[in-house]
Formats: sequence, structure tokens, C-alpha cells
Amino acid sequence: MKIGVLSLQGGVIEHINHITKLGHVGVEIKKLEDMNGIDGIILPGGESTTIGKLLRETKMLIPLRDRILSGLPVWGTCAGMILLAKYIEGIDQEYLKVMDIKVRRNAYGSQIDSFKKNVVINEISSEPIPLVFIRGPLITEIYNDAKVICKAYGNIVAAKQNNMFATSFHPELTDNLEVHKYFLNMCR
Ligand code: GLN
Repeated sequence: MKIGVLSLQGGVIEHINHITKLGHVGVEIKKLEDMNGIDGIILPGGESTTIGKLLRETKMLIPLRDRILSGLPVWGTCAGMILLAKYIEGIDQEYLKVMDIKVRRNAYGSQIDSFKKNVVINEISSEPIPLVFIRGPLITEIYNDAKVICKAYGNIVAAKQNNMFATSFHPELTDNLEVHKYFLNMCR
């Protein structure tokens, strides 16, 4: 499969390396045409305000939203989750606004501000998965058919809704490939 990784800002290469390790092709998405023929797209961590601004400047925001609404599998990690959310607490800014979740940016106190914790995510694997948090968003509300995939410290840190998947944490920064495998299964 050919999996796109939005490459406007943020942690791109780590996602591409994980996709390659799983025997698939990761392609950098810098402009609209790069999306041709992809089976899924990852929106990486970084700074959501910057990535959102660049999505507008490159005129990819609306076409990407349309592709997602037409069923393109998408996974947002951290800043990518913020781009997917329909609601962002305290901010009027609009990004892709496709997923029925409300997020709070930089929500974690010192406890999980930047932190690693091993958690079993039943939906993904019976083995514990290392979750790395780097000033990630929290999901504070979940609506309609969006469902909770993982909680840590009592907070929702992963959710899925049809073709959309979002994590507060960064599986691409660990050697564990299980979360990438899970997303690739969504792309089949
Ligand atoms: N704090 C960043 C934001 O609000 C997200 C951090 C990350 O992606 N690691 O966009």
C-alpha cells in the first residue's frame, strides 16, 4: 500500500520509517497532487497552528477534508488529532473539522506533559504498548459514533470514528509497530 504522511511541518520521517518496516510505501504529502493514489494518510505531530496555516496556504485543507469525508483512512497523531477535531476548547480556529471529538490543547499537567507509559490497548494488541506523550491534546468529549480506543490516567488518549483514528501520543517515536499495523489494517 501507499500511505501518505502530511509533510508540511512536524515529525514525518519517523512515520515513514515505521511504514517501510511494515513492508509498505510511505510518501511525503507536500502538495495536493501527492495525494493521488494513496490508501491512507497520517497527519503527524508538530504544531497544529503551523500545520493548519500551511494546509490553507497550500490549498490542501478543503480537498483533504473532502477526501476524508469520502472515506480516505486518516490517522492524526497529537497535532494531527487537533486538526481532525470538530471542536477545540477555547479556540475558534477551524482546521479539518471532521471527527466528532472535542480536544484540549496542551492539556496535560506535569504528569503526562512529556511522558512514557505502557498501556494495553485491547483494540490493538494484548501486549502493552509504550505511549509517548509530548505536550499532546486530550480528548474531553466524544460524540455520535466516535469511540474511545484508549484511556490513560483516566483521560481519553485515542479514539476512532469510521475511517478516522486519532491518538494523543506518538507511536512513531517508539520501536513498537502495533499502532501503525492497526492503522494499516484500516487502510486495506
Ligand atoms: N502542542 C502541539 C499543538 O498544540 C501538539 C504537540 C505535538 O504534536 N507533539 O499543536
